Amino acid sequence: MVFRMETNRDILISGASVAGPALAYWLSRYGFKPTVVERAPALRGGGYAVDFRGKVHLGVLSKMGVLDSIQAQQTRLSSITYVDQDGRPVSRMPAGIFAGDVEILRGDLGRILYDATSDGSEYVFGDSITGISQRPDGVHVTFSRGAPRVFGLVIGADGLHSNVRKLVFGEDGGPVRDLGYYVSIYTVPDSLVQERAGLLHSVPGRTAGVFSAGRQAIAQFYFSSTDAGYDHQDVEQQQKILVDAFTGVGWRVPDLLDAMREAPDFYFDSVSQVYLDRWSSGRVALIGDAACAAGPGGNGTGNAVVAAYVLAGELAATNGDYRTAFDRYERLMRPYIAKGQKQAKGGSQFLAPPTEKRIRQRDRFFRMVGYLPAKGIIRYLSTRTATGIDLPSY
Ligand SMILES: Cc1cc2nc3c(=O)[nH]c(=O)nc-3n(C[C@H](O)[C@H](O)[C@H](O)COP(=O)(O)OP(=O)(O)OC[C@H]3O[C@@H](n4cnc5c(N)ncnc54)[C@H](O)[C@@H]3O)c2cc1C
Repeated sequence: MVFRMETNRDILISGASVAGPALAYWLSRYGFKPTVVERAPALRGGGYAVDFRGKVHLGVLSKMGVLDSIQAQQTRLSSITYVDQDGRPVSRMPAGIFAGDVEILRGDLGRILYDATSDGSEYVFGDSITGISQRPDGVHVTFSRGAPRVFGLVIGADGLHSNVRKLVFGEDGGPVRDLGYYVSIYTVPDSLVQERAGLLHSVPGRTAGVFSAGRQAIAQFYFSSTDAGYDHQDVEQQQKILVDAFTGVGWRVPDLLDAMREAPDFYFDSVSQVYLDRWSSGRVALIGDAACAAGPGGNGTGNAVVAAYVLAGELAATNGDYRTAFDRYERLMRPYIAKGQKQAKGGSQFLAPPTEKRIRQRDRFFRMVGYLPAKGIIRYLSTRTATGIDLPSY
């Protein structure tokens, strides 16, 4: 079907990671004019592997024409091994269970989505929305660098600490619920890991690891803390928090921490979920982590791509009638997103078990899980949450 958009054609999207470019893709395909504003000066690389699982995720990627590129760049990790402080294997997490149907580095995925959309969308890097005023003729937006502009609609795809959410839904941060963990991820020199598979080492409340996906090595850290008290834009402070949290931990951790200062893509954040009563307010709506972050194990990346398909499809089907489109988008997506959020709540216990006993339990679990039928059941359960939606054809 070919749509001709009469109203609300100009749509501003804040955030160029996963949800933003995926939405821009569908909007431009339906005849809208998306503009994507990203705070970072260029496309942000970095991040760990993200995965897609089941026919819904793969179906949307295939319709976007990016599935082949994603498959061509998938990580193909053989397994993740937990090691003791001397590097001896303790247990093994088979990649086939947890890596979904296709796993790719977040930075590689971002690049593929950007390349698929840069022709049909305007990208503005190094800028950020400072003010949003909704008026009868559209949304009047001011920026920290660019000149003010008017858009038909504004969509916040700017992640866990969404700027649009703060500007439109209030400052209090009420909808963000921390799961009690922090995560840090960054690229390290290849010399720090020879194996293609990943390695992880846990002490109570802290897990550090490194893996090589063939082309680059990536360090990752998880630690439990009820409040690390960090400023999510102050990288120096975040690096200090990370070093303090892992001081005294053996294995390869001191070398991985030493490599941090040179990392081009240091990422640090709380492991949190977002719950909002409404994902839209007037002409402004939210998508991806900004609306409903689930945290690791919650299908966040795949679900963000699905949400982009639905939101753009509803706007096209209603010819830009945002009230109806936002209502339908939310009605369709909420139950699906809730499944991922519920799944992720339990998963965080595995990231950094709080006691030696819990670490041993986790290792026992992974030793057992490699054998059928446990393997099949876990794979079935995690795929079921990712496939639990009937998508309309737009
Ligand atoms: C650098 C990075 C690394 C990540 N690494 C991992 C990982 O290893 N594992 C994992 O599970 N998840 C990771 N994530 C989160 C993961 O990408 C998301 O959970 C998921 O893909 C949903 O994506 P999203 O597009 O909704 O949000 P996000 O991926 O969080 O993207 C939000 C985007 O908005 C931009 N932004 C923020 N504030 C503003 C502003 N004021 N104005 C304009 N733009 C703004 C950010 O720079 C970012 O590009 C990472 C995110 C980023 C940005």
